[in-house]
Amino acid sequence: MGRAMIIGAGGVATAAACKMTEAPEVFEEVMIASRTKEKCDKIIKQIDKTNYYSAQIDAMNINELAALIKDFKPDIVLNLALPYQNLAIMEACLQTGVSYLDTANYESPDNPHFDYIKQWSYFDKYKSAGITGILGCGFDPGVTQVFTAYAAKHYFDEIHYLDIVDCNAGDHGKYFATNFNPEINIREVTANGRYYEDGKWIETKPLEIHRPIEYPEIGVMESYLLFHEELESLVKNFPTIKRARFWMTFSERYLTALEVLQEVGMTSIKPINYEGKEIVPLQFLKAVLPDPSTLGENYKGKACIGVQLKGIYQGKERTYFIWSIFDHEKAYKETGTQAVAYSTGVPAMVGTMLYLKEIWKKPGVFNVEEFDPDPFLETMPIYGIDWYEAVDIVLPIDK
Ligand code: NDP
Repeated sequence: MGRAMIIGAGGVATAAACKMTEAPEVFEEVMIASRTKEKCDKIIKQIDKTNYYSAQIDAMNINELAALIKDFKPDIVLNLALPYQNLAIMEACLQTGVSYLDTANYESPDNPHFDYIKQWSYFDKYKSAGITGILGCGFDPGVTQVFTAYAAKHYFDEIHYLDIVDCNAGDHGKYFATNFNPEINIREVTANGRYYEDGKWIETKPLEIHRPIEYPEIGVMESYLLFHEELESLVKNFPTIKRARFWMTFSERYLTALEVLQEVGMTSIKPINYEGKEIVPLQFLKAVLPDPSTLGENYKGKACIGVQLKGIYQGKERTYFIWSIFDHEKAYKETGTQAVAYSTGVPAMVGTMLYLKEIWKKPGVFNVEEFDPDPFLETMPIYGIDWYEAVDIVLPIDK
């Protein structure tokens, strides 16, 4: 059916590539291109397929990337590298007339603030070029928006309150490690929190607001309010929303270690001079922390991500909860990665599949809630992620 090019060779790329091999009729040829070619070769060795190729690329170099795209001629490029590369990869796709998909919002390396404005500004150019940009097609962002679109389509006339809840109750056995790229993860957690209420964004101190929330199959876990990029697109695409929040769990040990690292300056993104060389403390910290793609082997336990909604249906109040559960050991068995990489790689692969099948294909740049959620939620369980729903219940966030 088509050809895909994956940029990046970390945990998420590994999970996506593994899952693509389960649909050989859709993914006829796949190239994995990343900064370090050995990591691409390692993934190809793991999946052991002759129609998967590797290449070295610095995705920040638009000309080189455009040349590689012209040479391989993919139908779509999956950006599974870092959010720093989003604009360069979007630009290379535009220059070569190839569609684009990513799993995280653009961020500039020297400013931890993120919003969709720069990526949305590609809408007209992508539309004129007749190519599709699919933004944020991991789990959160990604499936959380598909869940919301599904709820809006089937269960609500108006959504008023939205809470995305993300809990990882797994244990990887390390003293301190992050579940995806440490630099991006720590920037996200140490940034100010933000939520949406009555047409305004309300900023909080990092992790200032927290509360216990009950998660299916896991139990009650302390959950912290963060800003997450899908809130920005959801309140735009569902303008009846009055309040939108994002909650994530962290263990006591993670938070204590993070506080110490912050206090001693190790999470700073301001370059310092060390023995005549300029280094960024957070990038140095990333270099000494466990590589998230290696955490899978000893990871045990479950994770749960879902969306809790309140609103109106046929003149009556309605509540709705939709969620998925992940098992770290199952994810490792299937793909050699832990559940966070798995839960991002599978949706990225499913979104790409729907593009190649011309189901999620329209000219312009879109967040995933702007596509039909039904085919996505029909396909995702086939590739390993089930989902569950409950209607008109007391929401776990209100218990
Ligand atoms: P990793 O750090 O494990 O992998 C990133 C990969 O990108 C590495 O192989 C790295 O190369 C490569 N890379 C970095 N810079 C460049 C460049 N300039 N050119 C080419 N390749 C480059 O990250 P993860 O796999 O954990 O995460 C991948 C993405 O998924 C991130 O953007 C993350 O934010 C996102 N994510 C999204 C989630 C969601 O639910 N939506 C959840 C989790 C992650 P090298 O090996 O040389 O360093």
